[in-house]
Amino acid sequence: MAHQINTATCTSCDACQPECPNVAIRVKGGVYIINDKKCNDCEGHFDEPQCVSVCPVDDCITEV
Ligand code: SF4
Ligand code: SF4
Repeated sequence: MAHQINTATCTSCDACQPECPNVAIRVKGGVYIINDKKCNDCEGHFDEPQCVSVCPVDDCITEV
C-alpha cells in the first residue's frame, strides 16, 4: 500500500514534504507527488501517516 496526493486539490503548501520519514514526497514541476516505492504508510515510524496528519486539505492525500 502507499499514499497518493490529489494534485487537483493540493495547494502546494509544503507541509507534508518535510514530515515524511521515508523521503517519499517530492516536487516535480511545482506538483507534489508521492513515490509509491518509498511510501510505506509510515509503518514502523508513526501510528498515523504523517503527510495525512499535517495536510490542511481534507482528503487531499489518500491511501491507494
Ligand atoms: S504515508 Fe508516510 S511514508 Fe507515505 S508519503 Fe506519507 S509521510 Fe511518507
Ligand atoms: S500538505 Fe497537502 S496541500 Fe500541502 S503540499 Fe502536501 S499534499 Fe499538498
